[in-house]
Amino acid sequence: RAKKDGRNAYRFFTSEMQAQSARTLQLENALRRALERHQLSLHYQPQLALSSDGQARIIGAEALLRWQHPELGWVSPAEFIPIAETTGLILPIGEWVLQEALSQLHRWDLAGLPKLTMAVNLSAVQFRHDDLPDLVGRVLAHVGVPAERLELELTEGAAMENPAAAIIVMKELHARGVQLSIDDFGTGHSSLSYLKKFRVGKLKIDQSFVRDLTDDVEDRAIVDAIIRMAEALGLETLAEGVETQGQLDFLRRQGCQAVQGYLFSRPLPAEAFAAFVLAENPPISASLALS
Ligand code: C2E
Ligand code: MG
Ligand code: MG
Ligand code: MG
Repeated sequence: RAKKDGRNAYRFFTSEMQAQSARTLQLENALRRALERHQLSLHYQPQLALSSDGQARIIGAEALLRWQHPELGWVSPAEFIPIAETTGLILPIGEWVLQEALSQLHRWDLAGLPKLTMAVNLSAVQFRHDDLPDLVGRVLAHVGVPAERLELELTEGAAMENPAAAIIVMKELHARGVQLSIDDFGTGHSSLSYLKKFRVGKLKIDQSFVRDLTDDVEDRAIVDAIIRMAEALGLETLAEGVETQGQLDFLRRQGCQAVQGYLFSRPLPAEAFAAFVLAENPPISASLALS
């Protein structure tokens, strides 16, 4: 009987694995055509600065990649980004993201939106690629957006893969005037000595620490420690995944400078993002017309 169960368990395991690798293969093939078939798009999530008077003001957008396949539907970046990385497809896709996000920023400038920062996620694969600083420079020049309006997000894990190499690339990007932040901070074993050498201006506190902030004492202690450490190193903090007023109140009290999360807005298509910003910041001509 034990033998039979064991065999069934084994079979079940392999069919699970087969289904999984069939899915991966299917996604891999589909992803090879996704760019040229215009199945990729960007959504934008507002990033807000907190001020002591209790106000939150939109200061930027994070570009988040979306893939809609005609048969597979929406595929989560959590599922397809790793596939894009192992196949190398992340290089052309990442270049498209950079180009598209900065072009969108330029269009928002022309439409009279306040001057925002555009945060773009970088994969470790892009970060390891020698051409990255030049590529970023080329795209900025091509679109005609000043370098300081771009913020590149690198996960803590990616930065710590090879910290010595990361420092060199960060230096080059920093020299070009691009802003840098560490994404998913708290999940990737940074050492303080490296953090000091990284040319980053901001730590993005991972949403896993924010989720239970109102009732988990340990998460409160961790978030507080990250904010204190960032202050000591002259870095800003942005908390990710803020969903409740209670989380926001705690973060504000502890001195976190910026937030992002469903409490304010989900990631939005470009037009909806612009409408969201304009609802809070009417263009000067419009407010004059109203007054
Ligand atoms: P991330 O850069 O840490 O992005 C934050 C993720 O949290 C996004 O998921 C966002 O939609 C989600 N989020 C934002 N606010 C909240 C909230 O209040 N609650 C919860 N539960 N979630 C929230 P998304 O868009 O599914 O992206 C997942 C990850 O995929 C990103 O994590 C990033 O690592 C990666 N990714 C997305 N776009 C790109 C891209 O263009 N390039 C690269 N290399 N990676 C990307
Ligand atoms: Mg990010
Ligand atoms: Mg993150
Ligand atoms: Mg993440």
